[in-house]
Amino acid sequence: MSESIQRETRQDLRELQSERLRETVERAYENVPFYRNLLEEAGIAPGDVGGIDDVEKLPFTTKEDFRDEYPDGLFAVDDDILRIHASSGTTGKPKIVAYTESDLELWDEVMARSMAAAGIEPGDTVQNAYGYGLFTGGLGFHGGAEALGATVIPSGSGNTQRQVELARDLESDAIGCTPSYALYLAETAEEMGVDPRDLPLSTVLYGAEPCTEPMREAIEERLDATGIENYGLSELIGPGVAVECAEAQDGMHVWEDHFYPEIVDPHTGEVLPEGKEGELVLTSLTKEALPVLRYRTGDLTTLTYEKCDCGRTMARMDSVTGRADDLLIVRGVNLYPSQIEDVVLEFDDVAPYYRIDLYREDNLDRLELTVELAADFDGDSDTLREEMGERLANTLSFRPDALELVDYGTIERTEVGKVKRVYDHR
Ligand SMILES: [Zn+2]
Repeated sequence: MSESIQRETRQDLRELQSERLRETVERAYENVPFYRNLLEEAGIAPGDVGGIDDVEKLPFTTKEDFRDEYPDGLFAVDDDILRIHASSGTTGKPKIVAYTESDLELWDEVMARSMAAAGIEPGDTVQNAYGYGLFTGGLGFHGGAEALGATVIPSGSGNTQRQVELARDLESDAIGCTPSYALYLAETAEEMGVDPRDLPLSTVLYGAEPCTEPMREAIEERLDATGIENYGLSELIGPGVAVECAEAQDGMHVWEDHFYPEIVDPHTGEVLPEGKEGELVLTSLTKEALPVLRYRTGDLTTLTYEKCDCGRTMARMDSVTGRADDLLIVRGVNLYPSQIEDVVLEFDDVAPYYRIDLYREDNLDRLELTVELAADFDGDSDTLREEMGERLANTLSFRPDALELVDYGTIERTEVGKVKRVYDHR
């Protein structure tokens, strides 16, 4: 089922989604007082949901709902929970998520499916450099790799010299980590006198941070491996919601038989047509412990339903341009850090490290951008700075107030957790 469902006709897929949506709404209504109230307030009874097209009638679930219902107000089961995870909130309480036995099986299945789509095969050795613990990354990857029949090295996050040694000595075929960590691993290898391109890794399955195309190219070049992006979030299950296929590397296939995607206008909540950028909204279709109706992910992206070159018919989502939370408003201009990254990393003379500092002076916003030069840079940095400033001004209709080019290795690296590139001092 797992293999063939990925190439199902859209019509058959929608029938399956319709049946599963009805069950999910029923389950949420019957077992979660929060959803019963929400649906009643919206004037919807479970019987009103005939098929997947009716999803648009349903109310949204938000991050705030997770916080308000902390810790377990969104759970649909009492006794059958086998595992709890939590997503780290930057502020306030974490979002607590729960899994029944069937949810854990589902997670293994979608994660194994993701790895297979990424080109990882049974018998391959997968090094898991995601953090183990409350964060869903570590155990999510771990379960998927085992379900696929791969050998897992549960190296966890950090301890990068040891990661390099393990990858080399145990001949890891693939590594799961954040995109910034993949680069840090390459750099650490170099410092140890190991050419990162000689490491046996052929796939870097990255996620948990936004990653632009130039950043992917940097990862592929530095590690001589294929970079594959995957997407997920704890509120839905963890990693395993969507992944690129190794064949096309052109958008992440959303595992639509379990997670129904929509794109909405972030301001009005109106559903947008195919190809339009907006906020990704996801509905779980098979979850038991924590059914989620129309979750506002805060992630901005687009969806396409065009059949992929790989033959899969499932919708593809674009790389996330930014989270609504990452949006910077600089002198009234909306800006995502990824837009700056996209421009800056197009230059061959820079290393994939930068930081953005925001200040307020005399009631005016001030944006300072610091970019690292490539290790082998021997050109004229004034010319480079001028060109980069020009390109930023053209693409973003704005020019940083200060643009500093610093020597390779100057900007602090992130060894554990998600990389921080924006420092808002305002
Ligand atoms: Zn594909």
